[in-house]
Amino acid sequence: MNASEWMLPILQERQPLLPLDSKIRPKFQLLDGLRAIIFDIYGTLIVSGSGDVGSVDQTDRSQVIQRAMQFVGVEERLDRPVMWCDLRRVIERMNAERKSDDCISPEIDVVAAWRRVVDEHGWTAEEQDVATLVRLATYFEAWANPTWPMPGASDLIHRLSSSEIALGIISNAQVFTPLLVEDLLFSEKNRPPVFQPDLCFFSNRFRHSKPGPRLFNALANALQRRGILPQEALYVGNDMLNDVWGASQVGMRTAWFAGDRRSQRRRSSDPRCCELSPDLVLTSLPQLLECLKLP
Ligand SMILES: [Mg+2]
Repeated sequence: MNASEWMLPILQERQPLLPLDSKIRPKFQLLDGLRAIIFDIYGTLIVSGSGDVGSVDQTDRSQVIQRAMQFVGVEERLDRPVMWCDLRRVIERMNAERKSDDCISPEIDVVAAWRRVVDEHGWTAEEQDVATLVRLATYFEAWANPTWPMPGASDLIHRLSSSEIALGIISNAQVFTPLLVEDLLFSEKNRPPVFQPDLCFFSNRFRHSKPGPRLFNALANALQRRGILPQEALYVGNDMLNDVWGASQVGMRTAWFAGDRRSQRRRSSDPRCCELSPDLVLTSLPQLLECLKLP
């Protein structure tokens, strides 16, 4: 079994999950001169139970942890059960260790977090094997944060990929996230890449997350190398802070995707979002096509 097979449960454990009406009013306008569109993943191209990678809310997921531990055969190696607060504490500690003026929004490696959690519960780092840790992280994520392709996502991406517009991704992500993206693209062999590799930025690879500036700055540099100005690029995401504010800081145009009540994040109490006005407010992905002049 290879590493990507360890992560297959992220696809295999899914159940259909439809977006919930957000009751937000869409805002359209025709956007001229776009040369790149960059997408968020969770809550935008995929329906996400928690609205982000991992579990951002406070719901106690101890039962899901026990189930995943049992399923991958870790339970009997521990001296006591792992609880939700144990995982949260480790993640908070890992973030605190990395936080600095240069890294205002750290990102963890979730497999490393699980490694530390089980080590503290008696399955020591010397005894651990990476396959079991990746499977544990994957099953927990699949069950705690169920996902399903957002209606219209595949069609939208394929329609855009046949235009001149370059496509990219900035996503708060973990090791299994690219599988969800590949699934949206049908993984057809011999297809030219739909998302341009130089325009794709996953937070776990940088150990920086949104809304910190690192990923958006890296994107702005990559656009510049292609001769694309920030205002010729549109960022589409479900979170007014992580996505709309973050992208606006590098001068990109923005679309707030408010197509699912679970994940639309208005962030109205955050001062950074009070005066923010995205160019578009979308309540379904196909609406984006109505705002573009495609041949
Ligand atoms: Mg998102």
